[in-house]
Amino acid sequence: MTVLVTGGAGYIGSHMVLALAEAGESVVVIDNLSTGFSTSLPEGVPLFIGDAGDENLVEGVIAAHGVESIVHFAGSVVVPDSMRDPLAYYRNNTMTTRSLLNAAVKCGVNRFIFSSTAAVYGDPERMPVTEDAPTRPLSPYGSSKLMTEIMLHDVAAAHGMNYVVLRYFNVAGADPLARIGLATAGATHLLKIAVEAATGQRAKIDVFGTDYPTPDGSCVRDFIHVSDLAQAHRAALSYLRNGGASTTLNCGYGHGYSVLETIEAVRRVSGRNFAVQTAPRRSGDIMTMIADTRRIASTLDWTPQYADLETIAAHALAWEEKLFHERHGGLQHAASA
Ligand code: UDP
Repeated sequence: MTVLVTGGAGYIGSHMVLALAEAGESVVVIDNLSTGFSTSLPEGVPLFIGDAGDENLVEGVIAAHGVESIVHFAGSVVVPDSMRDPLAYYRNNTMTTRSLLNAAVKCGVNRFIFSSTAAVYGDPERMPVTEDAPTRPLSPYGSSKLMTEIMLHDVAAAHGMNYVVLRYFNVAGADPLARIGLATAGATHLLKIAVEAATGQRAKIDVFGTDYPTPDGSCVRDFIHVSDLAQAHRAALSYLRNGGASTTLNCGYGHGYSVLETIEAVRRVSGRNFAVQTAPRRSGDIMTMIADTRRIASTLDWTPQYADLETIAAHALAWEEKLFHERHGGLQHAASA
């Protein structure tokens, strides 16, 4: 009954591994450590350093550990990088999954959970966006994930596999006990940038556009706490184990916060008044992205525990402080006003 987690040393994958380990599940990880850290894994969880698209490796791990389900996180996630080097994204996301699925089919693993993204929707006409909305990705990243979704659908139909595709909205926060969190250098995500500013690692934060037709002029996002997201994966696993049919589910809370509100939340929880500067709109940004959550609510036995912006910000901050302390041996607090 072992669960194979690809990308289990990465940001979201490591929270899933922790959740599985804490639930007493047998879990094994494949990760090439390109952005992940072996130190993010709980003690005793076997790590195979290699590619999720290395069929020999995957087949060996499946056979040696009695893998019955695969939760596939491994992949590349930076939208602007995908614009610069689309083929890298089709290789790391689409082709890797093709190989992984081939190994799964050969070995008879018939439960598969896949990390997809709200980026498959592109710029939706209606908000909140439902899973049935047209998929028109605006980046190779989104396209590489959508292609994988299509492939998974076809493989499932042909080979009796059951899958859950989870389309993530804006994943943020960290383990509430600050054991793990987002450790990748050069991350561009709003909350990460904001907590870096709050810990004095950045002089300021830029707000990319304050002239959108939204309540305060900045973009609006549906943030989901990474530990809640991990529990959504566990719920998806239970759903498949109980015979649930293949499905695609939005993963968000169905509530939007603006960029300015998010920065304010970090200021409040940190008590540090770092500089916030208006900057031009960032190319490719969607004005508002909010999940319609009715399908996940009716399909999975999943109740979010941290659906609150301040809680997400506080956990992201606690983790960032710990990380900064570990790396630099002290905090440089931003000037308080
Ligand atoms: N954002 C910002 N300043 C930053 C980073 C992000 O204003 O330093 C904005 C970005 O323009 C977008 C929102 O925050 O409107 C969320 O961006 P992020 O990169 O976190 O996630 P995305 O929604 O693009 O996947």
